Amino acid sequence: MTMDVITLNNGVRIPQVGFGVFQVPPGDTQQAVEHALEIGYRHIDTAAAYNNEAGVGAAVRASGLPREELFVTTKLRNGEHGYESALRAYDETLQRLGLEYADLYLVHWPNPAADLYVDSWRALERIYIDGGVRAIGVSNFLTEHLDRLAKEGEVVPAINQIELHPTYQQRELTALCRQRSIAVEAYSPLGQGGDLDDPVLVSIAEALHVTPAQVVLRWHLQLGHVVIPKSVNPDRIRANFDLSGFALTDDQVASITALDSGNRLGSDPRTFAISQIR
Ligand code: NDP
Repeated sequence: MTMDVITLNNGVRIPQVGFGVFQVPPGDTQQAVEHALEIGYRHIDTAAAYNNEAGVGAAVRASGLPREELFVTTKLRNGEHGYESALRAYDETLQRLGLEYADLYLVHWPNPAADLYVDSWRALERIYIDGGVRAIGVSNFLTEHLDRLAKEGEVVPAINQIELHPTYQQRELTALCRQRSIAVEAYSPLGQGGDLDDPVLVSIAEALHVTPAQVVLRWHLQLGHVVIPKSVNPDRIRANFDLSGFALTDDQVASITALDSGNRLGSDPRTFAISQIR
């Protein structure tokens, strides 16, 4: 089973494979996360906007695992941007999680139309400097948004969580992140399942006696990405974590990298502004 870790720019270690819970219904979340923890996942990715932080926290507490062995990420939603509201939002997030701290807190989207993401970032810096969270980062930030944080902020984001899968790789952005010591975390790492029928992936999977999803996740790991595949299917949850018994050759990695076709599945960070508040 996969226990690889990546060291973030502040020395905090994040398990490279996490369990994403976007679109896991609130009533199913505790059970799904408990199942993931039983398999061996130690990193869970949620968000205020997913309305399932309570289930994540309940599973963490019910697991009986030492809190310091777990890595919990959550995110500030668009409707709570701004300095004071972001501070308040983090307190409310901790209450919903029922935890004393999150390991990683992200600004979920830049929402540039509101022009408040720098203020939100200052609030995350405050929380971090005060010791309320182990690391802070961003999600869906493009070059122009990272540039503003570099100019106007104090703390370099530990992570940028972005859409990244074989048919949508954002290679200029990932190169910039690496250059600035910002770890790259791939969301929708399987292309929401849609990339998995590609004949290149199917043939590599057949040659290695693994599934196309395992091939894609292995490709991410070998490129140094943190990944957070989502599944509600117990067999897939297990398989998505079972990535250590095989490796891709450089040629196989290159043939998957060649599948990039600009196939964005999610929203455009330049315009996405839905607040997702209940
Ligand atoms: P994924 O690429 O993880 O794909 C999930 C889909 O693939 C589901 O339909 C799942 O179905 C299917 N799937 C999972 N494992 C397998 C497998 N082994 N074989 C075949 N199909 C499989 O996409 P998501 O968009 O769900 O992204 C994952 C996580 O990323 C989210 O849960 C969330 O934590 C994060 N995210 C963050 C965003 C952001 O803005 N920061 C935006 C979107 C996602 P099934 O459940 O039936 O197995």
